[in-house]
Amino acid sequence: MTSTLSVFADSPARHLVCRGCGATFELAAQHACYECFGPLEVGYDAEALAKVTREQIEAGPKNIWRYAALLPVGTDPATRVTLDPGFTPLVKADVLGAELGFTAPLWVKDDSANPTHSFKDRVVSVALTAAKALGFTRFSCASTGNLANSVAAHAARAGVPSTVFIPSDLEPGKVLMTAVYGGDVVAIEGSYDEVNRLCSELTETDEFENTAFVNVNVRPFYAEGSKTLGYEVAEQLGWRIPAQVVIPMASGELLTKVDKAFTELVEIGLVPPTEWKVFGAQSAGCNPIATALHKGTDEIVPVKPTGIAKSLNIGDPAAGLYALESVRRTGGWMEYVDDDEIRAGIQLLARTTGVFAETAGGVTTAVLKKLVETGKLDPAAETVVFNTGDGLKTLDAVADRVGFTHRVKPSLKSAREAGLLG
Ligand SMILES: *Cc1c(COP(=O)(O)O)cnc(C)c1O
Ligand SMILES: [Zn+2]
Repeated sequence: MTSTLSVFADSPARHLVCRGCGATFELAAQHACYECFGPLEVGYDAEALAKVTREQIEAGPKNIWRYAALLPVGTDPATRVTLDPGFTPLVKADVLGAELGFTAPLWVKDDSANPTHSFKDRVVSVALTAAKALGFTRFSCASTGNLANSVAAHAARAGVPSTVFIPSDLEPGKVLMTAVYGGDVVAIEGSYDEVNRLCSELTETDEFENTAFVNVNVRPFYAEGSKTLGYEVAEQLGWRIPAQVVIPMASGELLTKVDKAFTELVEIGLVPPTEWKVFGAQSAGCNPIATALHKGTDEIVPVKPTGIAKSLNIGDPAAGLYALESVRRTGGWMEYVDDDEIRAGIQLLARTTGVFAETAGGVTTAVLKKLVETGKLDPAAETVVFNTGDGLKTLDAVADRVGFTHRVKPSLKSAREAGLLG
């Protein structure tokens, strides 16, 4: 696979840089450092970023590509592989805030409003735009559900074949919403971590040489897409960074990239300098990053995930160490909640904001509640909670907790008997 560097020429991206040892490599389909095997991320030309203005962004389209000048790809619309995700609602959550005792504004960033109903459309658009430019002819991923959904949809729009890999025990809603786009859906009889390992091995085979696995061989580009969530929140608040953010963690990548976005915005001068605290949310069934934080160690011990928050069930989180670093540096915290708390979290969010979240949003909402109750998160400081996925994909989570409040025949008599008239 030879790299087509021209697509990067008009972007501010300059190289891939090792998060471990700092070694740099040219922008290409490479995800691990040749020196220390550490993960790579995209490094930018600081001067190119510094030229970006609020006016330039505000004149852009109402989707992630308004931030193209801060991304490694996509400055030329003709090169994009995208469903044009982003610019999702930032919902003022006054009722939820009052219930949890907030005196400062509380917001929900609702990324269920993306084209395939999760934040993954952001990362997939950036990864596949890079993948196409790099010459890949098939799109793929190792997924906990939402990623497969998004890759299959992007491939359909682009007219490129796709083959996605998922654990065979995913929620039926996620499997269906992936399969309907017509690509190949491969169910692996194993955990996400086993799916991911298999995909890494497949990238080494001749048969998959021309296949871009968005979160494996083009992962540095994939990860950058998450920054747009941070940019959007700041822009939607009138170019300000909120004091506290609460973010669900699977690999931990999203959390680190929202923090990276805020850091860039301050460095570029697009927002006033400020401090913020990053909080991470996991489920009790898969809490390796939060456990390391609680133990005060950098050693993240992989777990075998269980529980209903399947989209977050990564037992060996690739960006866990960097998520720990973000949370420690900013003075935030991490918590985890069990399946009953997750179900209650979905209902709490829906009942107080009108946002119906999937299990990941239930995790985040329940963790928000726990962080306030334990005094870790300050209800007197402005806070943004991230809902990253849609409840319609995980209906089973709450199916036996909600239903009709009354059942009546179509007559006043029956309505009265049911107590509807007092
Ligand atoms: C993938 C996913 C996440 C977390 O992503 P990471 O970047 O791997 O931490 C959060 N919420 C939902 C709904 C997801 O699908
Ligand atoms: Zn390295």
